[in-house]
Amino acid sequence: MSLDFTLTKFHSLCSAVAENYPTLTLSEYFAGAALPERFVIMRHDIDRRPMSALGTARIEAQCGIRATYYFRMNSRVFRPWIMREVEGMGHEVGYHYEALGKAKGDFEKAIGLFGSELKEFREVCDVKTICMHGNPLSKYDDRELWKVYDFRDFGIIGEAYLSAGKDINYFSDTGRSWNSKNNIRDFIPGRREESEVETTDDTIAMIESNRIDRIYILTHPERWGNGMDWGFSFVMDSAFNAGKKMLVAVR
Ligand SMILES: [Zn+2]
Repeated sequence: MSLDFTLTKFHSLCSAVAENYPTLTLSEYFAGAALPERFVIMRHDIDRRPMSALGTARIEAQCGIRATYYFRMNSRVFRPWIMREVEGMGHEVGYHYEALGKAKGDFEKAIGLFGSELKEFREVCDVKTICMHGNPLSKYDDRELWKVYDFRDFGIIGEAYLSAGKDINYFSDTGRSWNSKNNIRDFIPGRREESEVETTDDTIAMIESNRIDRIYILTHPERWGNGMDWGFSFVMDSAFNAGKKMLVAVR
């Protein structure tokens, strides 16, 4: 098995993106009255190991890419100095919310928590967009909040799943494969070019072919590492995928 999902491979992916497409942050995409015909959006969900965001953010900055980083609100992930450093490199930082899950389905409690966590984020960074944390083990889907409330009331211009247009082609590293078979919730339904993209090399070839105009790439920087960290994270992901397959099987 050749090594994929290393920072070296991530650098190759970023080079391919930078050489072939302009990039947009999520807030630029949501605010854009006049969007370019072709572009790539690079989104990163920081679910754990926030230091890993610094590695990918630096590589992107070197390549001239401006990406969007969503951090969760918990004591391990919410690290103001890291978030400020990422924002300082020209990237957008947003709020990876899971308020409904934390409130165990209590909508009123959840929206209160959403407001107070967002306030804490805004003391650190300029937050304009939000993104649900799609925990496949939780029975709550945080997007349900927006059937009752409106995130615009909080000065938020877009939600990374709900506000994406139908013209976007979505690719995600969820489960350490670009193929969507490991995704349960971490997916924008019906907005995926059904091409056979499995490895990062496949994704790079797809980008270099220039055959898709609008591409939305989601990665989890904690999965992109070298050496020991990579091995540990790989084992964890494999165990997690095995667990998810069982979940799918019982549905
Ligand atoms: Zn997440």
